This record gives sequence, C-alpha cells and structure tokens, in this order.
Amino acid sequence: MTKTVAFFGLGHMGAPMSFNLLKAGFQVKGYDPVGASLDSAGSRGVEVCTTPHQTVVGADFIVSMLPHSAAVESLYLHEEKLLDQIAPDTLVIDCSTISATSARHLLAAARDKGLHAIEAPVSGGVAGAVAGTLSFMCGGDSHDVERAREILRHMGVNIFHAGPAGSGQTAKICNNMLLAIHMIGTAEALQLGVDNGLDPKVLTEIISKSSGANWSLQTYNPYPGVMENVPASNQYAGGFMVKLMCKDLGLAQRAATDSKSYTPLGSLARNLYGIHNLAGSGELDFSSIQQLFQLK
Ligand code: NAD
Repeated sequence: MTKTVAFFGLGHMGAPMSFNLLKAGFQVKGYDPVGASLDSAGSRGVEVCTTPHQTVVGADFIVSMLPHSAAVESLYLHEEKLLDQIAPDTLVIDCSTISATSARHLLAAARDKGLHAIEAPVSGGVAGAVAGTLSFMCGGDSHDVERAREILRHMGVNIFHAGPAGSGQTAKICNNMLLAIHMIGTAEALQLGVDNGLDPKVLTEIISKSSGANWSLQTYNPYPGVMENVPASNQYAGGFMVKLMCKDLGLAQRAATDSKSYTPLGSLARNLYGIHNLAGSGELDFSSIQQLFQLK
C-alpha cells in the first residue's frame, strides 16, 4: 500500500526533498505558509494542503524542514499544536537545523504523548537535496531512527545515528561551524591571490591539488565565474542563506557557552557573517562572504 508523507516547509531544501519522495512512490501532502512555494510544489505533484491539521491526516510519516527553532516549536507545540493531532503510529522526522535544547524538548513532548519523533538535520545543501545525496545526522531512539530509514534513504545517502535526542543537532552545528570557517578562509585566500594578480580559476586549481584543499574551494567555490552551477556564478542566489548560517553560528556559540568550550574561530566566523548579514546580504547564499573581502 502506498505510504503517505506529510511535508512541512517547501523552501530551498524542503521542496526538492519532497520531490524525491514523490519519485520514490510515496504520496506527499505538503504545507507551507508561503503560497508561491505551495503552488510550485503542487505543480510537481505534491498534494497541496491549506492547513497543518489537514496535512497530517492519514500520514505515515511527518517531515519538517523549517527555518529555525521558533518555527518548529510553533508548529508542533504552540500555535498549531500539531502533536495533539498526530496518530500514535505516525513517525515525526524534524530535519530543520534547530537548537539541541529545542530538539530535546520536541522529542520529549512527543514521547510524553505516546508519539514517536526523531531529529534529522542534514548536510549537503540544495544540490544534495535535489540529487537525493544528503547526509542525515539523526538523534533519538534507535528503533525510530531505523524506521525513518524507509524514507530518508530516498532523500540522502548517509544516515548517521549520532546518539540520543539533541545529538544530531550538536553534530550539525559542529559541521556548520567548520563549514563557515573554511568558507571564510577560502574567500580570504582567493581574494589575496586575485588582488596580487592571480586568476581565481588557476589559484583554485593549484590549491585543490595542494594542502589547502577543502569542500568550499572544490565543490562550492565562492569566487564568481570559477565554477559553474554554484551560487557564486548566479549572483549568489539560491543555496544556503547568510541569515541561516548566522543562526547556526549563534547556535554553536550558545552550545560552546553551555559546555564551557572555547571556539575562537567559530566566534570570529559568527561576527564576520553577522557583519555581512547587517550589510543587507541575509538572503544571499553564504558563499557571498567573498564580497566582504572585496569592499575597498
Ligand atoms: P527556506 O527559508 O528556503 O525554507 C523554509 C521554509 O519553511 C519556507 O518556505 C517557509 O515559508 C517555511 N515555513 C516556515 N514556517 C512554516 C510552518 N510553520 N509550516 C510549514 N512551513 C513553514 O530555508 P531552507 O534553506 O530550505 O532551510 C530549511 C532548513 O534547513 C533550515 O533549518 C536550514 O538551516 C537547514 N539547512 C539548509 C541548507 C541549505 O543549503 N539551504 C543546508 C542544510 C540545512
């Protein structure tokens, strides 16, 4: 029998993830408060729903891909109180990047109501969401994580169980703090080369085969024109917005304060992305940090 997935959040990531579930043969019911996102998903075969409650009727799985903790808490716990509308055999999979505290709160609230929920934040970006090659960093009960594989495997290739509730989010912010640091370092090095007469393509080729090689340089190059099909070659449109990177770096700093860890580079990265955000770049892809080094 065809299984049904209720999908919340049809933005840059959620839309392509839901399309991969459709492709795998699931029935997908979708909800997003932005009409244009909902209509666009509808034109690809997602069953458009106009209320969250209507979306979860008959769902075997619920997937959410929302911008931040407040949106997740509003949907499941506060304004929409979705946990009160879910059938006990439905598995909730929250893929949003939110605070570990918020994730623990959601999973505990679900358990208290006799429901099953896991956190499963992702890495791999929009390209990974489109290609179905995301990495999922799951936190929660191992039985629930095993059950989630039935749908996660159609949206990603790596499904990690990081540990109990909150562990997936902790893994995610460690990854994104490191991502921000090597993206900033890559942009800084490329600009230094260009300002001293090097062609950014040639410099990229050299560093790619040298000890400075990294993902930001080789897969998601921030310098316009070096690589095709990355946001840098499309006026930094699409991708992972600066304001979302600021959120993740804030989560990392909060976790560091709580655990009394020292993260000087993470702290600097948060400030640099914050300055870039305040300069009006919040909606651009995070590789646009290149522009910070081009202000003369
Ligand atoms: P986005 O802003 O493009 O999409 C979020 C969507 O959620 C929007 O369409 C918004 O209207 C919708 N939304 C807000 N509240 C809602 C609600 N109550 N119910 C249903 N929909 C609601 O953001 P995105 O880039 O798709 O990122 C989504 C999440 O994935 C974020 O937590 C982000 O940190 C994480 N993430 C993003 C990337 C990336 O490359 N974009 C990579 C990894 C993780």
